[in-house]
Amino acid sequence: MSRPRCIALIAHDEKKDDMADFALRNEKVLSQAKIVATGTTGGRVLEACPGLDVVRLKSGPLGGDQQIGALIATGEVDVLIFFVDPLTPMPHDVDVKALMRLAIVYDIPMALNRATAEHLLDFAAD
Ligand code: PGA
Repeated sequence: MSRPRCIALIAHDEKKDDMADFALRNEKVLSQAKIVATGTTGGRVLEACPGLDVVRLKSGPLGGDQQIGALIATGEVDVLIFFVDPLTPMPHDVDVKALMRLAIVYDIPMALNRATAEHLLDFAAD
């Protein structure tokens, strides 16, 4: 995989601690890309890694997932890292599905859990 120019980060509430830790441990690779994130996730990532270039969009339930979907459709996001909580019902479940659908339509690498995300960034670092 070539080095991503823009990585989207999203984590559901139960996965935000995990995302902050993931960002901290992968700060070097993430610092080589522009990061876009849903609002709360972006805030947590910036708390963990204040030096990262993070553009915070709207919170997921308020349209942030759709904003990231639009950036995928316009070719501005290369990689989607989305820590999904499979155990909690979400009011914006349709947006989550639509976002995943666009990542498939545009065939960008998409990690829906941490193990896959670690592999994706390992490939990107090579
Ligand atoms: P948040 O959105 O980062 O603003 O919490 C994530 C989501 O639930 O889609």
